[in-house]
Amino acid sequence: MKQNEYLCPKCGGFLKVNVKIIFIVLKDDGKKGIILLNPELGDYIRIAHSTLKLKDGERLSFLCPICHSDLSANEINRNLARIIMIDENGTEYKILFSEIQGEKCSYRICKKEIEVFGEDSSTYMNYFGSGPQ
Ligand SMILES: [Zn+2]
Repeated sequence: MKQNEYLCPKCGGFLKVNVKIIFIVLKDDGKKGIILLNPELGDYIRIAHSTLKLKDGERLSFLCPICHSDLSANEINRNLARIIMIDENGTEYKILFSEIQGEKCSYRICKKEIEVFGEDSSTYMNYFGSGPQ
């Protein structure tokens, strides 16, 4: 069965291994760690080592674990990270999700169409120009 793939927009490396998407996160206090996200959009469970001590409301910088690029989508909003998704049909989407711990929102964009996920998704809708149809 073919599955969705998630790629770094900078190096094209595959970020999903088995059932998790893997990132490095950098906290404002300089602490770095590995974080695992579920590939289902709308699922906001984040798995990290307990020593990373993630607190709701804190901003994390998501970095590609392969090329270490900062994935922040600064041209849209500093609090959003951007990756690429390719679905089972080969269609490419831009995925944006919040870098704020505990904030539940993600966006799937293909050309001009935006699909929104999560209870906090209205927070960033103003940053997408015309918004969803
Ligand atoms: Zn990369």
